[in-house]
Amino acid sequence: MKCLECSKKLDYLEHRNAMDRFGLELCDSHQTRLVRLIELNKTPIEAIQLYYGLKEVGVQAMLEWWDGKKSVDIAISRVKLNIEIDTEYHRLTHEQAINDLERAMHSFKNGFTTIRIPHVLIQHYLKETVNNILGIMEGLKANIKVI
Ligand SMILES: [Zn+2]
Repeated sequence: MKCLECSKKLDYLEHRNAMDRFGLELCDSHQTRLVRLIELNKTPIEAIQLYYGLKEVGVQAMLEWWDGKKSVDIAISRVKLNIEIDTEYHRLTHEQAINDLERAMHSFKNGFTTIRIPHVLIQHYLKETVNNILGIMEGLKANIKVI
């Protein structure tokens, strides 16, 4: 039981708190950092789980990356990929839908591709989601080379 971020050995209580809060092995100080991030940005827990799922396979991503207009849940800048986690897609209103489309349009103008992932996918298919993102990254890398 080691912290995913700093490799500090976790004691029983630390480990249990981390698993209860995030479903991830994190030390007290890294848990506190994430709690602050969540308070500031309303970061979905699933974004954090996906971030660590990507880290596990060697993908360097950024949590709550500020792109100049908005905070993106996860950004993989090497291939200009933004990932947004949808937590309330079942209650999507037309206002939200047009906002999403406009945000995607701004990202594209900056050369970024945005994908939206429903949070339930991360809850049930984290491995498959990570594998698909790896595939998307490969595709994006190939496109960057062509240009
Ligand atoms: Zn730590």
